[in-house]
Amino acid sequence: MIDPSLSDPDQPGTIRVVSAATTHVGHVRATNEDSILDAAPIYLVADGMGGHNAGEVASAIAVEEFEKLTIQENVTVEQLGDALSSAATRIGELGGESTLGAGTTVSLVATMVLDEVGYWVVLNLGDSRVYRLSADIFEQVTVDHSVVQELMDRGELTPEQARMHPYRHMVTRALGAGPESDPDYWLIPAETGDRMLICSDGLTGEVDDATIERVLRSPSDVRTIGEDLVRLALDGGGHDNISVVLVEAVEVEGQQLEAETTAGTGSRTEEAFDVDEDTLPRALPGDGDDAR
Ligand code: MG
Repeated sequence: MIDPSLSDPDQPGTIRVVSAATTHVGHVRATNEDSILDAAPIYLVADGMGGHNAGEVASAIAVEEFEKLTIQENVTVEQLGDALSSAATRIGELGGESTLGAGTTVSLVATMVLDEVGYWVVLNLGDSRVYRLSADIFEQVTVDHSVVQELMDRGELTPEQARMHPYRHMVTRALGAGPESDPDYWLIPAETGDRMLICSDGLTGEVDDATIERVLRSPSDVRTIGEDLVRLALDGGGHDNISVVLVEAVEVEGQQLEAETTAGTGSRTEEAFDVDEDTLPRALPGDGDDAR
């Protein structure tokens, strides 16, 4: 395992979390083009793309720009957008053959306190994903910006067919490469015991959602769960780089997580809403799109 870590459990604020992050090159690729960030209040996976070392340069730039926000306890959606713009500018300015076509996905979860209420802010661009486990809810929060997602939205592909489709690695939006770079945002009230998973397609290409849910529901700590998910992806073939970042709310607004209860009973507020609803299917992209 590379780079496992736990965040400071004494982090102040009305949402207190523990986290863990792991990235693995996999069994097939020569290099790891994924980059990860596990530093309160931002938890991020970036999956780079492009020839030569372009992908790892692009994903590292994304992490660097968002890491600048981790000196503060709280972030705003505007600051997240600014970090994204700064990263896009830097990636666009890359020159030379080795960084031709550089781009990256960005999927992140940030903790945010608004009017003394703790929220998860989710941002997505590309086909890395954020999942949420909360009490009896398990859901994929993000919607992939990918060719196969668009085909599924049009009813032309089943999820099973999508997993084997030759275009399954082709994204329709990315940071720094491709025609579109508008992210989607979600703002979700945080509940004590929530677990958020941010991951690259090296996990979801090898491990199905039912298995991911089963592992997330285990009583293990987030570090063990992250290691278990990476191991499952490697056992599935490890065809791509695998990145897993987990963040769990152990206390929200004075609530205290009782020992051993991570997804227990209790009512919750279902108030997830889109800041940007622009996730509608678009026409199948033509030449010049990003294949990974
Ligand atoms: Mg990947």
